[in-house]
Amino acid sequence: MISLRHLTKTYGRGDAAVTVLDSIDFDVPTGQIAAVVGPSGAGKSTLAQCINLLERPTAGSVVVNGEDLSGLPEKRLRDARRRIGTVFQSSSLLGRRTAAENIALPLDFLGVTPREADARVGELLERVGLADKAGHYPFQLSGGQAQRVGIARALALRPSILLADEATSGLDPETTRSVVGLIRQLRDDLDLTVVFITHEMDTVRLAADTVARLDHGRIVEQGSLVDLLTAHESPLGRSLQPRRGHAGPEAGTRTWFVTYDSTAVPGDWIQRVTTDLGVAVHLLGASVETVHGVNTGSATLGVGTDDDTRVAAALARCGLSGTPDAVPITRHDDAERVLAGVLEDVA
Ligand code: ADP
Repeated sequence: MISLRHLTKTYGRGDAAVTVLDSIDFDVPTGQIAAVVGPSGAGKSTLAQCINLLERPTAGSVVVNGEDLSGLPEKRLRDARRRIGTVFQSSSLLGRRTAAENIALPLDFLGVTPREADARVGELLERVGLADKAGHYPFQLSGGQAQRVGIARALALRPSILLADEATSGLDPETTRSVVGLIRQLRDDLDLTVVFITHEMDTVRLAADTVARLDHGRIVEQGSLVDLLTAHESPLGRSLQPRRGHAGPEAGTRTWFVTYDSTAVPGDWIQRVTTDLGVAVHLLGASVETVHGVNTGSATLGVGTDDDTRVAAALARCGLSGTPDAVPITRHDDAERVLAGVLEDVA
């Protein structure tokens, strides 16, 4: 369990002082994966560094499993840090050390006997699915394998907290999926509390139980992933929606941009809306994903009537909300742009 209370970080003094984190209150219950998103410069990395106490907060507290780490003297802080494992962006392995030696680093620092270290490293390699790669150097590993080694290293000292700071940035979608799957599996097996910092909204949908949006050093919005995905008034919820390009409308139809508004949208909703309206309803495009067992997403429809009130009512009966002739956002691969631009437009 992590609790941040009034966490503030200011760099510099006097006129040159810059407050990068501004009185943040944030809780991550044990066993949860909390994503922290936000545009570049929002303070995400500083937040990570304050949680693992690589940076001392200027004010406020970092409480991990009931203990306030922010006030600890250096010696006890070093012990406390062992409870927090950090996975960085993929290039963080030492190039002149093998996978096994990289994983052993924290154990070496701690003075664990070589025999114990070997046993622990073997266990960890097994856990991340790389038992046959112990002697490989980082250049001999794929991006996904290197990141698995990074995860094993972060877990070497049996932490209860895992901090993933842009841990999947730069990985292709397939590899991201597999690394996120491993983190979720480890969370389940080891009851880890995970803070997952990323700017990739597609990854947030795969990984997170809860999401917080950081902007200018403040948490401006937060909630459970599933709640946010059905909260259309929420800028964060909208930016989390899966959206890929939808085809254009057919001649003679009215175009509706439809989003899932409920966790109980029936799978055959197009059929139901068609029957309800008694006119043709064409699916022009859809991006729908199942997140934690709940369908979420958006669709573009061609509807053969201009009675907008009836269409809206038929959609609502299926747990959907829509806008006629709306221009859908057709690209969603640049989360930075969505967070920095669209969110401000909406807010
Ligand atoms: P993010 O990870 O969201 O991109 P960062 O936490 O890296 O954001 O940075 C947030 C802000 O804090 C930026 O404006 C950055 O310039 C500033 N910052 C980060 N570290 C320092 C530092 N050591 N001294 C002064 N300013 C810093």
